[in-house]
Amino acid sequence: MIEGVELRAIIVLFAIAVFVACIVWAWPRFEGAAPVLSGPERIELGAAGASIELGWEDSGSGLRNASAILRFGSGEGAQQEIALHDARFQGSAFSGPAAAVGAERKAFDLDAKALGLPDGQATLLLTARDGSWSSFGDGNRSELSIPVIVDTKPPRVSIASGLTYVRRGGAAAVEFRVSADADRSGVRVGEAWFSGFETSDDTRIAIFAIPIEAADDPIVEVVAIDAHANEATARFDVRVQERETVEISIGLSAGFLERIAEPLGAANEMAGSTPVETFQRVNTELRAKSEAVIAAAIGAPSAAQWSGGFEQMRNSKVTSEFAELRHYTNRKQRVSRARHYGFDLASTARAPIMASNGGTVIFADDNGIYGTLVMIDHGLGITTLYGHLSSLQVAVGDRVTKGQELGRSGATGLAGGDHLHFAVLVGRTYADPVEWWDPKWVREHIESRLRNEPPLPG
Ligand SMILES: [Zn+2]
Repeated sequence: MIEGVELRAIIVLFAIAVFVACIVWAWPRFEGAAPVLSGPERIELGAAGASIELGWEDSGSGLRNASAILRFGSGEGAQQEIALHDARFQGSAFSGPAAAVGAERKAFDLDAKALGLPDGQATLLLTARDGSWSSFGDGNRSELSIPVIVDTKPPRVSIASGLTYVRRGGAAAVEFRVSADADRSGVRVGEAWFSGFETSDDTRIAIFAIPIEAADDPIVEVVAIDAHANEATARFDVRVQERETVEISIGLSAGFLERIAEPLGAANEMAGSTPVETFQRVNTELRAKSEAVIAAAIGAPSAAQWSGGFEQMRNSKVTSEFAELRHYTNRKQRVSRARHYGFDLASTARAPIMASNGGTVIFADDNGIYGTLVMIDHGLGITTLYGHLSSLQVAVGDRVTKGQELGRSGATGLAGGDHLHFAVLVGRTYADPVEWWDPKWVREHIESRLRNEPPLPG
């Protein structure tokens, strides 16, 4: 028999146990950790739009809702809102929003025009509430305000140069004016880009080239881009003079394949099952890799370090010209082809190779088909290239003057004999060195335009 006192004690103990169990069960439901919101620090919305990613997360009781609202317009009454996102997550009072969505992530492509957002300031407001029972059941709330700058107005650009003639594969300079909001400017020819350089507050010049492979009657335009990727273009009066390019056949001798192509293929892990196949891989894959190294070595455009004509290798004989298309044959079959983007110049073996103009060495190392290669950045987007060298006298970062020795000629890389492969790049486009070797051409087509006073408005 249980005494009354004992029964009371048991009931009290049971009540305490139930109470403790309730607290243990309910305690986490009162968690006080607010949801964590994430998004970009600020959004700059130009005509090209912006891609953003937003996140709402609650690792405690899970999300109850997640929203994103764009607010814009000035003044209290004139303020407008666009709901970008409004998610509500179901749950019960006991389980909480126990489908327990811990995190929601969404990507948005914002387009000011499609959203009807006017230029100016706007705000993107992210909010979330979690499933906690705190705040009398309302849960913990978070808010994140992201400033949005809407600017869809392109900068202004106008051409200051007159009629411009340029040969396919050749170069020219153009002067133009941009408004103060222009962040980047230059000339675009198809895919090729040529940076503009500031000559005064609002004037820029750009040296550009017509790529040998450019479309017929290529579109040449001056481009100005602002900090929000708004772009303005201006066409100018440019006449592209067509040119004949030479096609030649080069027979691959057994000796060349064995002595040159095979070791080059093996050294670059491009060996084929036959010597011809190795040559094919070298002439396509290794060539592409070598060109990629050259393109990567060209950095941000720098100020002019050159003047006057560029010097051609002394006492040299031209053995191959710019832009010739080479067909390689084996047993009278065409087995490969490549465009030659430079000049081959031969003199005596191990002849001194000089810098064609003032500049800074940006590459001095082995580079695939070009063998030991030196590249000089002359500024204003002009780079010269010296390939197949047997020795180096300069290193990356060296400032060189016109006529300074860079190294000795040789036959490293894909070369049948001792010669210099010389090339000129405007931006990342190969241009005909003949123009740059001619001081009169440089003066009339480039330097005179660099010195031009902008014409008076009228
Ligand atoms: Zn060459």
